[in-house]
Amino acid sequence: MDDTSARERLKKMLADLDRSIGVLRGDPVSVRDRSAADAGSDLSDADRAQAMLTVATSHRRAVLDALKRLDEGTYGRCVDCGHPVPEGRLEARPEAARCVQCQGKRERRR
Ligand SMILES: [Zn+2]
Repeated sequence: MDDTSARERLKKMLADLDRSIGVLRGDPVSVRDRSAADAGSDLSDADRAQAMLTVATSHRRAVLDALKRLDEGTYGRCVDCGHPVPEGRLEARPEAARCVQCQGKRERRR
């Protein structure tokens, strides 16, 4: 994948994430209003929206980091070991910062 299409895909992801984050930020209030009738369900709905917001926010950060790497000319290289991130991985996840091995190591550490 060349830098231009990577940038386009990342920009599109960023726009989608911004939209979802906007909706999710507004949602808990409307969820509470809607479920005033069936009390008890509002907390789980708000919790779910909060969890989705957390995921969307960290995904957005990863996309921004990838765009920064494009600007710096380091895009497509693993941020840990510096080896090229396989093309197929970037196709599936253009915001991927690490090769599969380093991502695996990082996730095991957590
Ligand atoms: Zn690596």
